Amino acid sequence: MVEKDALIIRNVEFIGGMSEKAGWRPDSSLPEIAFAGRSNVGKSSLLNSLVRRKSFARVSRTPGRTREINFFRINNGFVLVDLPGYGYARIAKEKKAGWKPMIESYMRRTSQLRGIVLLLDIRRDPSEDDRAMLDFLAAVEVPTLVAVTKTDKLSKSAARTRVSDLTKMLALESEQVIPFSAISGEGRTELLEAIMDLVGAAPAADAS
Ligand code: GDP
Repeated sequence: MVEKDALIIRNVEFIGGMSEKAGWRPDSSLPEIAFAGRSNVGKSSLLNSLVRRKSFARVSRTPGRTREINFFRINNGFVLVDLPGYGYARIAKEKKAGWKPMIESYMRRTSQLRGIVLLLDIRRDPSEDDRAMLDFLAAVEVPTLVAVTKTDKLSKSAARTRVSDLTKMLALESEQVIPFSAISGEGRTELLEAIMDLVGAAPAADAS
């Protein structure tokens, strides 16, 4: 259990972006939690809802920053890592694959990564990129949460069925899967609690 107090985001500070494979990244003194998902999945909306900051969205939506990995220090307690959205249908194929080396390079250059939140849109079937990402995360053994976004777009019962189908389809554990809506606020507390549990956990390499 985490202290309720830890769930209040008191301070959010943009600390910089990593724009190329081996580019700048912050020092790794704080635990990191990264967020990934295809473009348009609702990542900006979810992050804004989590931190309850409008300026946060502005930073991550600045043109040029969308292709970067953006780092934000939260409460001076952990670093939130906003990975580039992948698989945008309107951009050229080679650019589509551009996210992978960046994200893999980030993964290799982080020693404090405690977990990844992968976002899936409740109305869409997981894409090849989504599956590749889940396989990759399982292979590197990074604890993974799946936030199923935009649950308000379906009725309560249809959403429940869909979340359970996605969980089975992707062979996930139900504890890993958190239904979320930036509009209704569903799942915000659950997701924050799960994130704080990961932040407080020992890094995988140190676990005995
Ligand atoms: P990103 O590209 O992953 O950062 O996605 P955005 O947060 O910009 O959202 C993409 C679109 O989905 C926008 O039109 C949002 O208004 C919409 N959207 C995001 N989250 C929700 C949600 O929880 N419910 C609904 N109904 N729409 C959402």
